[in-house]
Amino acid sequence: MLISEVGEVQLIKRLTEDIKNDPNLVVTGIGDDTAAIKPSGKKLQLITKDMLVEGIHFLRESISPWQLGRKALAVNISDIAAMGGVPSHLLTAAAVPSDTDCELVEEIFRGIKDLCREHSINLIGGDTVGSLRGITISITLLGEVGPEQLLLRSGAREGDLIAVTGFLGTSAVGLELLLQGDSHEQAWEKEVLKAHLEPPVRLKEARLLAETGVVTSMIDLSDGLQKDIGEICGASGVGARIYAEQLPISEAAREACRSLQIDPVSLAFSGGEDYELLFTFSPDKLSWLKDLWESQMGQKLLVLGEIVPKEKGIEIVDSRGGKLSLTRRGFIHF
Ligand SMILES: [Mg+2]
Repeated sequence: MLISEVGEVQLIKRLTEDIKNDPNLVVTGIGDDTAAIKPSGKKLQLITKDMLVEGIHFLRESISPWQLGRKALAVNISDIAAMGGVPSHLLTAAAVPSDTDCELVEEIFRGIKDLCREHSINLIGGDTVGSLRGITISITLLGEVGPEQLLLRSGAREGDLIAVTGFLGTSAVGLELLLQGDSHEQAWEKEVLKAHLEPPVRLKEARLLAETGVVTSMIDLSDGLQKDIGEICGASGVGARIYAEQLPISEAAREACRSLQIDPVSLAFSGGEDYELLFTFSPDKLSWLKDLWESQMGQKLLVLGEIVPKEKGIEIVDSRGGKLSLTRRGFIHF
């Protein structure tokens, strides 16, 4: 049934009837003029917002409605995680053409609500309106963090090591594959597509890093390593040296790069939307953090570079220290 046949009131009822918020945090959610939530002690309030526009950020034929809803929330959670925080409350806004199938909108919201349940996030309000063309989804996410655990981009110091929570370039090569069309049945194809369509949520990792007290700066990788380490360097007044051979690239991404004839190192350096966390810490904490990371996360700590003086800028070097110049493949808005 189309939205125009169901009407806004019925649509919202269908989208929200299965929402169960935590009564200890939410006095009233959807159903009154505004939501009323309880303030939480001495913690800092984190607030973030992201918008996904059809044709700009996604193509309707390339992502399922469930994945679209999930991703819209996942990228916001990633920003809260990057501050060392925990997400708590969510407001949604959707603009949808009136000739859209009701089921499609319900699937988008199912993607959002499934991720809410997984991470105990309360969906407390939103707005659903008509659109003349294309779907737009915007999410406002609230979170919190203890003041002593807040992680900013501005804390990196010369000599700090740079590490990341997972593989790089997988999402970007997934997007390349997706834009080629065709069906993708091989395991490596499915793996890189999933990285793009269902990005990871690194909340557990963010909590562990924030609690260590040794992380000096952190950012989530939305625009790619090259651009995002640039954000840390800009905010901290430093430069960065990245070791090409230490860039973590999955076997699946290497296979996809071979098939698409893309240089995996360039891709790992500049490809966006991996939504891993990039962070810095003092080199004298390396062995301690390595042990902690391996015991808590069951995987190796992925160190890929070091912070250098500002004058050096951002450079990527090979194993002999030779500077590499790579084709930039990052995506710049406007
Ligand atoms: Mg971010």
